[in-house]
Amino acid sequence: MKIHPPAITVTPAIIALLKSAVGESCVHTDEETIERCASDETEDLRFPPEAVVMPETTAMAAAVMRIAYEYRIPVTPRGAGTGLSGGALPVHGGIVLSVEKLNRILEIDSRNLMAVVEPGVITQELQEKAEAVGLFYPPDPASRGSCFIGGNLAECSGGPRAVKYGVTKDYVLGLQAVLSDGSVVNHGGKLLKNATGFNLTQLLIGSEGTLAVITKIILRLLPLPRHRLTLLIPFPDLESAAAAIPAIMNAGVIRSALELIEQAAVKATEAHLGRSLPYSDAPAAPPWLPARLTYCLPIRRRNSRSSGTCAGQSAKPSNRSPSIKKRIPWCPATTSSRSYAGSRKSQTGTASQPYATATRATAICM
Ligand SMILES: Cc1cc2nc3c(=O)[nH]c(=O)nc-3n(C[C@H](O)[C@H](O)[C@H](O)COP(=O)(O)OP(=O)(O)OC[C@H]3O[C@@H](n4cnc5c(N)ncnc54)[C@H](O)[C@@H]3O)c2cc1C
Repeated sequence: MKIHPPAITVTPAIIALLKSAVGESCVHTDEETIERCASDETEDLRFPPEAVVMPETTAMAAAVMRIAYEYRIPVTPRGAGTGLSGGALPVHGGIVLSVEKLNRILEIDSRNLMAVVEPGVITQELQEKAEAVGLFYPPDPASRGSCFIGGNLAECSGGPRAVKYGVTKDYVLGLQAVLSDGSVVNHGGKLLKNATGFNLTQLLIGSEGTLAVITKIILRLLPLPRHRLTLLIPFPDLESAAAAIPAIMNAGVIRSALELIEQAAVKATEAHLGRSLPYSDAPAAPPWLPARLTYCLPIRRRNSRSSGTCAGQSAKPSNRSPSIKKRIPWCPATTSSRSYAGSRKSQTGTASQPYATATRATAICM
């Protein structure tokens, strides 16, 4: 694909127009801001915009879009700039419309299990606010500590929990957006059943900022799960680790995530961090016993609101495990969980650690 060099479209007269529409403090042409918005996390690409505008309201965003529409100036919406597909890069120059000042959590509605947020809210911030009132926003991109909810919608982001909970699109009930001509549209709403007409909410999700600027989002929340159980399970080879996945699914266990970590990766992580991770030298289960979880570390993690115990604090052997053992016949009883690293104390202390275990290992979270 040919990428055209940016044209000079944002003249001083246009800058003045933008400033009069949204205020001086929302329009930036300084080198530092231009440079920051010239790239995202996509490797080695740099496209400086001519101006960066940071509206504080939907009306301001609409005013910017109207001016750009009238003068045919390219506009690229931008969230936190953590994207890996180059969507936030202003390849045609023009204006970057950054939503970083649209960053309010407008409502956490615990009666209806919904949240109303602006697009510049950091994903983890919403998750923490929801958890504080016993609710749960499951989509978990690994960048959740820095990316924005608006960017998550535009990229339909998800993480390991997608296996059980789905991705961003599964939690969006409605949104407000500004179209290229500056008109403001509202799709969906604060309701669960909304079956009539075109599903324009979902059309905008994953559209990478090409169809509209999202300025308000209504999200579905879940009750915060009361228990979490993490199992670290060593396997002798990739094949037996892979074979365990359908076995778990067929056992009717709806797990939150399954993560595979090879011992080489665990070792490299240890070397990088300069500290040892739990069970990194554990021998794998013998090849003739591939599906038996001979070495298994169940860790119960209660969510803080239900018990006052946080991940990383003392996690006693799970009292849920016997039922899990019934559902996964080869899961060992928790009370017999063996420790490679010695004491019970050292086992329980691993609850908040990254998963790390033996040769060709996998960790299963439920
Ligand atoms: C270390 C790291 C880990 C990551 N892990 C994951 C992961 O596990 N899963 C995953 O899915 N992604 C992951 N990503 C990619 C990235 O974080 C996500 O795509 C994230 O959703 C982007 O959000 P953002 O706010 O940074 O958006 P940006 O990068 O700023 O923008 C991304 C796209 O969204 C558009 N956009 C942003 N805001 C709006 C808006 N309000 N209205 C319309 N369009 C908008 C932009 O134009 C652009 O096309 C990771 C990135 C990094 C650097």
